[in-house]
Amino acid sequence: MHLKVLPGPVLAQRTTLRLGGPALAEIHLGSERALDELPGRLEELGGRPLALGHGSNVLAADGPLPVVLLRVPEGDRPEAVFSSGEETVVRAGAGMGLPVLLSWCARHGLSGLEGLAGIPGGVGGAVAMNAGSFGTDMSRVLERVLLYSPCCGLRWAGRDDVRMGYRFFAPRTADRFFLVLGVELRLTRAEPEAVRAALDVTWARKRASQPLAAASAGCVFKNPEGAAPAGRLLDEAGFKGRRLGGMAFSELHANFLVNLGGGTAAQAFELIQAAREAVAARSGVALELEVKVVE
Ligand SMILES: Cc1cc2nc3c(=O)[nH]c(=O)nc-3n(C[C@H](O)[C@H](O)[C@H](O)COP(=O)(O)OP(=O)(O)OC[C@H]3O[C@@H](n4cnc5c(N)ncnc54)[C@H](O)[C@@H]3O)c2cc1C
Repeated sequence: MHLKVLPGPVLAQRTTLRLGGPALAEIHLGSERALDELPGRLEELGGRPLALGHGSNVLAADGPLPVVLLRVPEGDRPEAVFSSGEETVVRAGAGMGLPVLLSWCARHGLSGLEGLAGIPGGVGGAVAMNAGSFGTDMSRVLERVLLYSPCCGLRWAGRDDVRMGYRFFAPRTADRFFLVLGVELRLTRAEPEAVRAALDVTWARKRASQPLAAASAGCVFKNPEGAAPAGRLLDEAGFKGRRLGGMAFSELHANFLVNLGGGTAAQAFELIQAAREAVAARSGVALELEVKVVE
């Protein structure tokens, strides 16, 4: 059996924001061979397929959700598959935690991902979101990505086969739905201590300015182009610390929406709407969501 189906998984238990009602089902893909069975099982179950990584960028609605969650396997440990000069290409499975990969890179003296410290997602989610911070993102190091879609099957896609931008990733093919199953990243050799020190610097900067221990999904809004960062716009519009029921914009960083305990998605949506209206009225900026809404 390569594929396991669980009924009624609750999104609040699978997302770092701790919000969301039950989905129709959750399919665990035990291995790549499970993909052969996937289209048939999705048809039986109905609903929309939704790749769920570590749930750290998802805002799921409260009620029953017409989606089937797809969970990719963790995959093998990272391995160096190619080296030339100062460069090494590392392959990793999509289900692996990004922090696990970062630690592995530090141990093996591989540089390129240090700016991503503190991002609690999976490797697949980091590619699907083109996760990044402090001036770097996954697109800087991505060499190839192992993709699956019902229309195009399983294939390695190179950098020219995908489009990547600010918190954006899409295959150039016409897939309406795709899964990231693995990645190859082009990294640079460095001293392990130097990589570890750079990770520590990123961590320290984030700990000082972001509520990393709170239940959140990271930044709610994207930073708008040609304007102040979303956090500052929200702060200026009076939303830092603004609370509704169990949900609030963080006191530490206004662009982090946090669940203080007992929050609901309805409260989250209401706060988001109010913040958008206030920022538009004050600064003339239409804030765009960075979190992925599941409803
Ligand atoms: C405390 C905190 C700090 C954060 N800091 C940052 C930051 O500095 N920079 C940043 O960019 N983000 C940040 N985030 C947001 C989040 O961690 C990243 O976007 C992360 O890359 C999401 O990965 P995930 O596995 O949790 O994806 P999920 O939240 O599970 O999914 C996010 C999106 O990716 C898709 N997806 C996930 N896995 C796959 C897959 N295998 N195949 C296809 N699609 C997939 C989902 O369908 C969904 O659309 C932060 C979040 C938290 C809670």
